Amino acid sequence: MKLLHTYSNKRIDEQEETWEFLSKLNKNKWSIVHLYTIAYDYYKSLVYYIKHFQPFIVIEQDIVPSIQLLEEIANCSEQLCAAPYILYPQSTLLQNEVYSCRNVISQDPVTKEITSLKWVTPKDKTADYYPLGLTKFNLKDTSIISNSITVPWNRCDHILSQQTFSSGLKAHLHWGEIKHNHK
Ligand SMILES: [Zn+2]
Repeated sequence: MKLLHTYSNKRIDEQEETWEFLSKLNKNKWSIVHLYTIAYDYYKSLVYYIKHFQPFIVIEQDIVPSIQLLEEIANCSEQLCAAPYILYPQSTLLQNEVYSCRNVISQDPVTKEITSLKWVTPKDKTADYYPLGLTKFNLKDTSIISNSITVPWNRCDHILSQQTFSSGLKAHLHWGEIKHNHK
């Protein structure tokens, strides 16, 4: 299975454990590409991978899954899979920790504008909005993803989620052992 490891030059200390995790993976089983997300257009790279190199799993710079969770996602037959991980109040400015995926609660029937989203809990099996932390893409119809838009790196997850959601696709959730080193 292909792993797209995306990293940056920011918060280097939070990325060390991910590099260490990847260095221990069996290279006969996992083909790892390290993508420096600041130097390249992250969105365009992701879209290129979606259109040409599926299936693959994105693993972002500060995410450390268990090998069991990584294998479970790799072996899953769903088109779109994500592993919820904790987002900490220091970065979200919310009062409590939340799990990183969300479901649409309400949408304007005319404008299609999403008016309310809810963070997932371990009872949820799918999510409409997902971050890229540990996410597998194996979309049957890749034409639902646009390659003609420009998206800043910190909006990639949101824009990809919007496109899969409006095509009726939900991310299949894998609840497992996963560490997020960005507190
Ligand atoms: Zn799955």
